Amino acid sequence: MTDTFLAKGKRKLLVEELKRKGISDEEVLRAINTVPRHDFMDPAFLNHAYIDKAFPISSGQTISQPYTVAVQTELLRVKRRDKILEIGTGSGYQCAILAEMGAKVYTIERYRELHLRAQRTLASLGYTADFFFGDGYEGKPQYGPFDAIVITAATKEIPEKLPPQLKIGGRMVVPLGDSNSQVMTLVIRKGENDFEYSSHGSFIFVPMLKGTASE
Ligand code: SAH
Repeated sequence: MTDTFLAKGKRKLLVEELKRKGISDEEVLRAINTVPRHDFMDPAFLNHAYIDKAFPISSGQTISQPYTVAVQTELLRVKRRDKILEIGTGSGYQCAILAEMGAKVYTIERYRELHLRAQRTLASLGYTADFFFGDGYEGKPQYGPFDAIVITAATKEIPEKLPPQLKIGGRMVVPLGDSNSQVMTLVIRKGENDFEYSSHGSFIFVPMLKGTASE
């Protein structure tokens, strides 16, 4: 779908709303103002694209709420050319925000349909990223270590194979908790075996599940 003045106007209002809610990283706000979120959803739901809410995509999954994407991205402190691993490609929207900010993104999805569709969406918008169909619990050690890792699904515990794939000084953002509510957790790798943890509010994500989906 093409971008329109209407969509651009709605995005500007969304960015204002995110600022009011406390998002201050200018690059994050610029990326949200630039990436057409409606292209990551069914065209029938254009009116929902710039409301600050999560929305169903296919395979029973959701495109994250813009505020949630903004909080996660802000916590990552993205710099141009950062190497970032995303667990849970979903619609590809978070991936596009990171690509718009100049990051080199490696993204993993366990539903083949979503994995394929997100690739088409990003290509149609001119963004490049490396897409993998697989289980995010494994990470992508052969492409690491990463400047940042973002998990966009809820997990009770930090997947043990992921922190070792961070560079020293690298940052990982993960929603930790049971299915009712998760605490946005920032993990900073301070040294080889030294990790610092901090909490950044409550959120609700679809669950992170083991293995690839059969459909
Ligand atoms: N970042 C996405 C959010 C999608 S919702 C967006 O911007 O739209 C979370 C996604 O994580 C879902 O698509 C779900 O299928 C995926 N997921 C859950 N467990 C996973 C795992 N173990 N490996 C890879 N992806 C996973």
